[in-house]
Amino acid sequence: MSHSSVPLGTFPTPVEPAPRLAAALGLGPEDLWIKRDDLTGLGGGGNKIRKLEWTAGAALAEGADTLVTTGAPQSNHARLTAAAAARLGLDAVLVLRGSPGASRSGNLALDGLFGARLAWAGEVDQAGLDAAAAEVCARLRARGARPALIPFGGSGVLGARGYVRCGEELDEQLPQLRTVVVALGSGGTMAGLVAALGAGAVLGVDVGALADPAAAVAEFAAPLTTEQVTAEGLRVRRDQVGAGYAALTGPVAQALRLAARTEGLVLDPIYTGRALAGLRAAVRDGDVRPGEKTVFVHTGGLPGLFGHPDAVAFAEEGAAAFEG
Ligand SMILES: *Cc1c(COP(=O)(O)O)cnc(C)c1O
Repeated sequence: MSHSSVPLGTFPTPVEPAPRLAAALGLGPEDLWIKRDDLTGLGGGGNKIRKLEWTAGAALAEGADTLVTTGAPQSNHARLTAAAAARLGLDAVLVLRGSPGASRSGNLALDGLFGARLAWAGEVDQAGLDAAAAEVCARLRARGARPALIPFGGSGVLGARGYVRCGEELDEQLPQLRTVVVALGSGGTMAGLVAALGAGAVLGVDVGALADPAAAVAEFAAPLTTEQVTAEGLRVRRDQVGAGYAALTGPVAQALRLAARTEGLVLDPIYTGRALAGLRAAVRDGDVRPGEKTVFVHTGGLPGLFGHPDAVAFAEEGAAAFEG
C-alpha cells in the first residue's frame, strides 16, 4: 500500500537552548535543548499535526469528506483534527468522553471555532469510545457522507511516520544528542522518534492514557525500522501519572512554574508538564546526566492549560501583589 502525506504544518520546527532551565535541573548550561513542536503552526500547533499529515492525507486519498476521531474533552488531537479538517475543506465530528459540562473553555472552545460537530459518548472506556465513533461513522454513511476514522491520538503505524520525520530533523539539528524526552500518551509520537533515533535515545514519560503504553509504542514503531523494537527495550517512566491522566500532580505544578520562570516557556498540565517532571526525576536518579545533550520535545497543549481549572488556579496563585 502506498501512502502520501498532506502538508499541514510548518517544518522543521526550531531547536532552542534552555540554559536557565538546564541549570535549575542540575544539568550544564549547554546540555538542554527544546524541540519546539508546539510551533507546528496550524490550529494553535502541537505534536498531533505531524501525525495528521499522514492520517488526514490517507483520508483525502480515499475520498473522505468527514474526519471522525475520539478523545477526552480537552483532547489536543481532537482540536487539531478539527483544524486540519477546516484547512482541507472537510467536515469533522469529534466523539468525546463524558457529557457537555459547564465549561467550554480551552480545546472545546477551539473545537467550536473550527466548526467541528461534537458527539458526547458518556463515561465510557476506550472500547466504548471506539464503539461510539463506529456508530457515528455508520450514521454518516447512511446519510451519504464519506467518513474517515482517525485513531485515538492519531496514533498508529501511519501517524507515527510523522514523528520519524521529527527524529530526522533532530538528527540534523543536534547530532550529538543522547536523550530525547517526550510525553507518552497514545504512543505514536514516541514510536516515530524510536524508529528514527533508536530505542535507547528516547525517554517516554507516561501520562496515564493507556493501560500498556510501552506495548503500543513497540507495535507502532516496529514496522517503521529495521531494528528490533520490543516493549521491554524502551525507556519509559511511569512515575508521573499520579492520580490519573486528568489530575494536576504536585511535581507537574512545580514543573509548569519552573519552565515558565526560567525560560518563559508555557507547558500544559497533562503532557508537557509531566514530561518535564519526568526529566527532573530522571536527572535525580542518574538516567539523564550532565555533560550529555538532552532534548525536551515541547509537544504543545497550551489550550489544555486553559481548559484545566486546577492548573489555572495554580497559575494564578503565582501572581504576587506588588507592594512597592
Ligand atoms: C497527544 C499529546 C502528547 C502525546 O503524544 P502521543 O503521540 O499521543 O503519545 C504529548 N503532548 C501533547 C501536548 C499532546 O497533545
